[in-house]
Amino acid sequence: MKPVQKNDRLSVYVEDLTHDGAGVAKVDGYPLFIQGALPGEDVKVHVLKTLKSYGFAKLIEIEKESPFRVKAPCPVFDTCGGCQIQHLSYEGQLAFKGNMVRNAITRIGKLPDVPVHPVKGMDNPWRYRNKSQIPFGTDNGRVVAGFYESRSHNIADTDICLIQTMEADAIMSGLKQSLHEMGIEPYEEETHRGQLRHVVVRKGRATGEIMVTLVTKKKKFPQSERAVELIRSFVPEVTSIIQNVNPEKTNVIFGDETLTLWGKDVIEDRIGDVRFEISARSFYQINPEQTEVLYGQALEYAQLTGDETVIDAYCGIGTISLFLAQKAKFVMGVEIVPQAIEDAKRNAELNGFSNTLFEAGPAEQVIPRWYKEGKTADVLVVDPPRKGCDEQLLQTILKQRPGRVVYVSCNPATLARDLRILEDGGYRTKEVQPVDMFPQTTHCEAVAWLELAD
Ligand code: SAH
Repeated sequence: MKPVQKNDRLSVYVEDLTHDGAGVAKVDGYPLFIQGALPGEDVKVHVLKTLKSYGFAKLIEIEKESPFRVKAPCPVFDTCGGCQIQHLSYEGQLAFKGNMVRNAITRIGKLPDVPVHPVKGMDNPWRYRNKSQIPFGTDNGRVVAGFYESRSHNIADTDICLIQTMEADAIMSGLKQSLHEMGIEPYEEETHRGQLRHVVVRKGRATGEIMVTLVTKKKKFPQSERAVELIRSFVPEVTSIIQNVNPEKTNVIFGDETLTLWGKDVIEDRIGDVRFEISARSFYQINPEQTEVLYGQALEYAQLTGDETVIDAYCGIGTISLFLAQKAKFVMGVEIVPQAIEDAKRNAELNGFSNTLFEAGPAEQVIPRWYKEGKTADVLVVDPPRKGCDEQLLQTILKQRPGRVVYVSCNPATLARDLRILEDGGYRTKEVQPVDMFPQTTHCEAVAWLELAD
């Protein structure tokens, strides 16, 4: 028998927060997930749904409020899926993220003695995103634009987004107001009708350069000149305006064809002293200010003297590799997406680095081959996707035994799982530094430093 039934009303104490930002209360050990409730609060809830081992309830009233509760400043916080924890003060967010990393390291990694430092957060945790991908659509004949609601393709219509740039706000609301006047129809996902699908705005934080990409269904775009003129009037600092054509019935944003409508083909940015060229479709870190903190930490843990060879597995466009190349003898980067490797090579050249090598392919195959060819490393850096390191890559590390491993992670659970495997194979985790790359959301990055035990 479940301790609660659908439509029950009860008062509960909220003890935790999930990765989606929902409060968790336990009734005789049975977890109830409550959207909008915060840890430390007594709340009255209405049970919506009960499954075998957990249920969902709606928040009706807060009987005792968390001292960390704040009023979410965003007008569409309740519907938009972009942020999950604006109702938690930034201090509370950092404490939550620190606990999340610490719990994973203790419970999953079984490493209760490893120091996990307080999260490095931002001085101003707003307006940090350098890229906005804004879907356009219609609602009862009215043009809407904003971000998707959580787990849906409905657009939460808004004129401001407090985690994107002011320029993205100006372009989003300006285009929304003038679309009808220009004779451009927003795209409709269900019917595949209309022309304008997404507007993507990117800004180089260090350079101020701004790129606006209009993703259209058809290449034929008779209103493009007028659109260019208007966008430049909304934000005179724009340096390039691009059209990308995506004729497919898909929720993938970009299509294969890209044309420059006005200005430069790329924008430039810098992380630390390293320059990057960014085109409409290239991958680039979303929060460069904190990327500098995260990769600065990776560099510190790598403790390079100038004599070391470093392997950067999962290197993307080589952000970490180029950061390390400033201090290492040689850096070898491997990444599965060939386009990203092209970007990495171009960026190495742009910065005048001659001590790097990049190869496209699965890290778990390329790195064992490098070792066979005598290309070995003193320090191995990994920055895998959310699912963590490939098992075969971990086995390669344990076989080749580089003296130092620096693990950059965007998912504390898989970080902890992989640290356990490396510990069992003879490595010792010295410390872990969490870094907040995505304020107002539940995501948290962390860097771990491991040494081979002798
Ligand atoms: N360090 C990079 C980003 C890492 S994100 C940067 O700063 O830009 C993780 C990367 O791992 C992604 O670019 C993804 O394409 C890549 N990837 C995923 N599976 C991989 C695999 N098996 N081998 C190599 N790279 C992989």
